[in-house]
Amino acid sequence: MNHIVYLALGTNLGDRPANLRAAIKALPPSIFHRQSSSIYETPPWGVEDQPSFLNMAVKCETTLEPEPLLKRIKELEVQLGRQQSYHWGPRLIDLDILFYDDLILNTGQLTIPHPRLHERAFVLVPLAEIAPDFIHPVLKKSVKELAANVNTEGIELWK
Ligand code: AMP
Repeated sequence: MNHIVYLALGTNLGDRPANLRAAIKALPPSIFHRQSSSIYETPPWGVEDQPSFLNMAVKCETTLEPEPLLKRIKELEVQLGRQQSYHWGPRLIDLDILFYDDLILNTGQLTIPHPRLHERAFVLVPLAEIAPDFIHPVLKKSVKELAANVNTEGIELWK
């Protein structure tokens, strides 16, 4: 059975657009890419003294259950050259699971929906392009509504 998942991609090191392209290209057949948002350039978040990020959201169809999916995308980050960094520090590529169907899950290792997606404009702005009417299963609000309630200052469509 296939599941619809939304993933967030972020990068702020090296050739950032190439990193995003490489991540999408490296998705295995078990995480089938269906749709991409535009790319946005966004100010660094959490730790501000680092290069700005490129962020985007993608919709995929997957046969993987949530935990194997997380394991696979974390392997992908390493495969694409991500080194360990400090929390919220610079990164070549970061992949997060935003939604997995309308599943609500908290295992300690994995929280779905992503626990901070509703407060992050750099996630919500691209996500609202490809899933404006998707209802957050915990907050019971659409992505469009959530995006309208965050500060989107500094977030720019990347040419
Ligand atoms: P980071 O590499 O900073 O994105 O942190 C990744 C870690 O956060 C993972 O190893 C997971 O154990 C944990 N995590 C919890 N919920 C999620 C989620 N929805 N998507 C991705 N990582 C998650």
